[in-house]
Amino acid sequence: MKTDKLANTFRVDSGKHFRLKDFDPADTGQWRSKEHAAQALQQGIARMAELQDKLYAQNRWAMLLIFQAMDAAGKDGVIKHVMSGVNPQGCQVYSFKSPSDLELEHDFLWRTTRCLPERGHIGIFNRSYYEEVLVVRVHPEILKSQKMPDCLIGKNIWDERFEDIRCFERHMARGGTVIRKFFLHVSRKEQKRRFLERLDEPEKNWKFSAADIRERQCWDDYQEAYEAMIRNTASEHAPWYVVPADNKWFTRLVVSTVIVATLESLDLAYPKVDDAKRKELEAAKKVLLSKK
Ligand code: ATP
Ligand code: MG
Repeated sequence: MKTDKLANTFRVDSGKHFRLKDFDPADTGQWRSKEHAAQALQQGIARMAELQDKLYAQNRWAMLLIFQAMDAAGKDGVIKHVMSGVNPQGCQVYSFKSPSDLELEHDFLWRTTRCLPERGHIGIFNRSYYEEVLVVRVHPEILKSQKMPDCLIGKNIWDERFEDIRCFERHMARGGTVIRKFFLHVSRKEQKRRFLERLDEPEKNWKFSAADIRERQCWDDYQEAYEAMIRNTASEHAPWYVVPADNKWFTRLVVSTVIVATLESLDLAYPKVDDAKRKELEAAKKVLLSKK
């Protein structure tokens, strides 16, 4: 399988028939091992660097990458891997935790909107406004702390949020922000293994949080919420990628392949130098060469 095909294998751009159980968290395509995929991983990173340079220079498109997942699915590692291939000057990463008091004074899209990437930049969201239809749906008591007028919290609240998100993403896409969304799909069994590793290995202890175990108890509710989220918010202009996450190297390969394929699909080019600019460059060169 070529890597460009790989990008499409896990793409969901219409939610209609989407079922999470059709996707296997342990899938590794035709790759047998990390070593087998090493070259493709390396090439992806190198290509990303070239394309990002053009994205930045051209300053027309922005790219927003959204990562959602259960704990220990590998969001941080994937983001580190992607970042290793890009110039930090044109890339920002934002992590969204429980909202602050100030954030709760605003609508649910406010805090992430302030962090959207500017033209020429890549913005990475480690969690996002999608938490509003995930953790908040699984724990509806969180809604009560959101200070909304009671009469606005009805039984259609989740559909309303899906609609708001769809409209918001369409608006962003129409303005030149290319959105790609990744659900890192880890199995329950692999999550357990990784949690045990965090408990057993001293240098991984810091990653462990008791809250992670509590959330694990709600596994099925989360899977349902993820499925509903993807069904309702997958679109051509803001597709979801359901990325197998039981093997970290494969997750990284798929994500970098999607990013490269997306950048390749844009009309990226270095800005053209017009006659006036060329004259300016020639004059500058003359000055430099004529003096010490
Ligand atoms: P790590 O890899 O370090 O564990 P993390 O993204 O899991 O990273 P944590 O501080 O462990 O970060 O958890 C952040 C928590 O904040 C998550 O449980 C998430 O569900 C929660 N959260 C994020 N956004 C919201 C929101 N809008 N409302 C309520 N909780 C939220
Ligand atoms: Mg966590």
